Amino acid sequence: MSAFNEERVLTVHHWTDRLFSFTTTRDPSLRFSNGHFTMIGLRVNDKPLLRAYSIVSPNYEEHLEFLSIKVEDGPLTSRLQHIKVGDSIVVGRKPTGTLLIDYLLPGKRLYMFSSGTGLAPFLSVIRDPETYEKFEEVILVHGVREVAELAYHDYLTQTLPKHEFLGEMVSKQLKYYPTVTREAYKNTGRITSLIENGKLFSDLGVPPLNREQDRIMICGSPGMLRDLKTMLEERGFNEGNTSKPGDFVIERAFAEQ
Ligand SMILES: Cc1cc2nc3c(=O)[nH]c(=O)nc-3n(C[C@H](O)[C@H](O)[C@H](O)COP(=O)(O)OP(=O)(O)OC[C@H]3O[C@@H](n4cnc5c(N)ncnc54)[C@H](O)[C@@H]3O)c2cc1C
Repeated sequence: MSAFNEERVLTVHHWTDRLFSFTTTRDPSLRFSNGHFTMIGLRVNDKPLLRAYSIVSPNYEEHLEFLSIKVEDGPLTSRLQHIKVGDSIVVGRKPTGTLLIDYLLPGKRLYMFSSGTGLAPFLSVIRDPETYEKFEEVILVHGVREVAELAYHDYLTQTLPKHEFLGEMVSKQLKYYPTVTREAYKNTGRITSLIENGKLFSDLGVPPLNREQDRIMICGSPGMLRDLKTMLEERGFNEGNTSKPGDFVIERAFAEQ
């Protein structure tokens, strides 16, 4: 059996000139956990050109959804940004990754710290009913440079709280905290600064990070991951992985060249 499925693009939505989302058909045999990423891409000169992508859509949906950057001279995204409804997308059959609630020890509060396209895996985690069974409070923090890059903002604030099955849990348990670094906005500053100066916690009405109650998932730039990991380890948090659950888990939103 091939390591890949060929799927069809169903919808494309451009958020900005650097960011877009698209949905595709889903082979019913594709299994994944909420928070996983897989290899996806295009056939170029008859060979698959693939990159790692987090799956935005939860694992019970019939379609797949992805959130993508547009890198001007990026081998994949310089092409992928031009996809249209009906085009073919290659999707790897072996999703994997560490951003799973199973890799976290039990806790009261789940934080998801994301920057840029690092939001993607958490859109799947926050639509998993198990997330709300395991954690009393679920906090999604999304840091971007400009307001327009707050992808899914309206979905998170308006649509999801009215969701037929998840709406009640989301309304009671999910807090969404968008923050912007290069424009005026209701919340501004980098996630690391908002943690250090305590503003994140006073705005949310929760105590500062503590290992007894809090579990954390992080997905962002390699720099953000480094800084947050250091901050958490200084506060006594232990990193978990696919073989040993911990207080926090980490995944890169992209690799540095
Ligand atoms: C585990 C994992 C999950 C990922 N999930 C996603 C995802 O859900 N959505 C997504 O768009 N990308 C994601 N990426 C990045 C993705 O694999 C590609 O790097 C991206 O699609 C660009 O591909 P490219 O061939 O055009 O350029 P590449 O040659 O892959 O990248 C060129 C350069 O562009 C920059 N860059 C690449 N991706 C990003 C990004 N997402 N945000 C900001 N700068 C970036 C980096 O500086 C990189 O060195 C993920 C990467 C990893 C390792």
